Amino acid sequence: MRILVVEDEMELCLSIAEGLRMDGFEVDTCFDGSEAWEIIWAERFDLIILDLNLPGMDGMELLHKISDEDIEANVLILSARGQLRDKVEGLDAGANDYLCKPFEFEELESRVRCLTRRKFIRQKVVLECDGITLDSKTRSAKAKDKELTLTRKELGILEYLMMHQGVPVSQEELMEHVWDSNADPFSNSVRVHMSALRKKLRGALGYDPIVNRVGQGYVIGGKTS
Ligand code: CA
Repeated sequence: MRILVVEDEMELCLSIAEGLRMDGFEVDTCFDGSEAWEIIWAERFDLIILDLNLPGMDGMELLHKISDEDIEANVLILSARGQLRDKVEGLDAGANDYLCKPFEFEELESRVRCLTRRKFIRQKVVLECDGITLDSKTRSAKAKDKELTLTRKELGILEYLMMHQGVPVSQEELMEHVWDSNADPFSNSVRVHMSALRKKLRGALGYDPIVNRVGQGYVIGGKTS
């Protein structure tokens, strides 16, 4: 799951990003509204955490552009503007959620979890497929009730596939959602992590639940034959 944090209070921005990375998200940061628009326009995010008072371009203006251009991302407004009309204006402009500053990180975390899941499945923390369970809150996975020791990337890949059970997911798509923007699109990094993940799953389950459909991508669950 990829998140962009747009917030000009640099320290706050970086600490939100750090906290969300610890939760297993891939997080990019941006301190300026118009710069944020360029990034949002060029790349894909599952969630944008958006401050309203921003240099460059105001958060509300950015939000309108996101809606106008049909950018496919959830938006959580994080703002010191706490009046009811601010909230209504933000939600009317297409934001999915609104959190007022000051806030507790725990609350932000829980809303982020909710918004990043909502797009794919309804309110489920534990994903299940083929004897594998993955808890997106504790960032852990089990196969046949045995704990799997996975790296962050391996867990991210598995989570993304499990959220799209039966649907082939391409390397490019994994790159967009499981990697942050520092990733080199020409590296074979997805392949390397994927093969390590499949090896671990094979070890735990006795077979490899991930199928590589040539020309389509990787798929887990569903009818994979
Ligand atoms: Ca601000």
